[in-house]
Amino acid sequence: MCEVCRKHGEGKKWYLQAKNYSEDLQHDLEKHGVFDWKFVGRDLERWERIKKAPFFIKALQEPRIAKRIHNMHFGQVLPIEDIEQIFGIVNNVVRLNCICRIPRKTKEQRFCYGVSLTPQNAEAEKVVNKEGSGYQSGPDLFQLEQVSKEEALAQFRAYEKDGLCHSVWTELTPFITGICNCDRSDCGAMQNTLVKGMPMMFRAEYVAELNPDLCSGCRACMRVCQFGAITYSAGNKKAWIDVGKCFGCGVCRSVCVKDALKLVDRAPVPAVANVW
Ligand code: SF4
Ligand code: SF4
Repeated sequence: MCEVCRKHGEGKKWYLQAKNYSEDLQHDLEKHGVFDWKFVGRDLERWERIKKAPFFIKALQEPRIAKRIHNMHFGQVLPIEDIEQIFGIVNNVVRLNCICRIPRKTKEQRFCYGVSLTPQNAEAEKVVNKEGSGYQSGPDLFQLEQVSKEEALAQFRAYEKDGLCHSVWTELTPFITGICNCDRSDCGAMQNTLVKGMPMMFRAEYVAELNPDLCSGCRACMRVCQFGAITYSAGNKKAWIDVGKCFGCGVCRSVCVKDALKLVDRAPVPAVANVW
């Protein structure tokens, strides 16, 4: 299990703990610290700066910055089965603009979903209307699209077919605010993790496994893997998975018509058991 599960999961996956979606937890955490994107931005700048610093400074500073990031705004990749379990816990799902995609001006920006255990429907409307009552035109709900859990799940499945990988996010860990659908071209956290080596996005609790007897070598899985974990062996005309690079998102499975791919638990795979 990853360090966040050990700290906040009570023996289970941390994002499957209902308490981590609760308003009570959010209020408790806010007593000790305030989430602010500026803090995350500053740590990103620091991370870039210390790259050029002598080795001993890097060795001292990198873990400190990583710890702050993990306590502030941290994410983990997860497969669709775990998304289903999250929808079994929360009672309120709101589709909203993705903060990473806004500056990139992508056409469809609503890949992010706010999830919570706040009161739904009539109760939620009361809260929103009260908050927005000071505005002449009423509350601005343009960017908040309430969707049912079934609708959201269908949208997640469609995104997965398109090669997007799912992830869960905190704002003041372990309080969970949302789940997102990410790709390497648009997701800032994915880029920071993969390109700059800043650990903002942990791997899933799983890793992909290929059955070479079923694989036809069509390479469809290679095209959707956001992490460059699948290559093609010209020798045996089949795909090959580099488990060291695999984030365990499971997206490759959704395009494999031969059922040659599955996810297995990361912990019993010695090469990657402690690779996050
Ligand atoms: S999509 Fe399936 S059959 Fe095609 S290369 Fe990948 S594992 Fe093999
Ligand atoms: S190989 Fe791993 S990282 Fe790549 S799509 Fe499959 S599960 Fe995700």
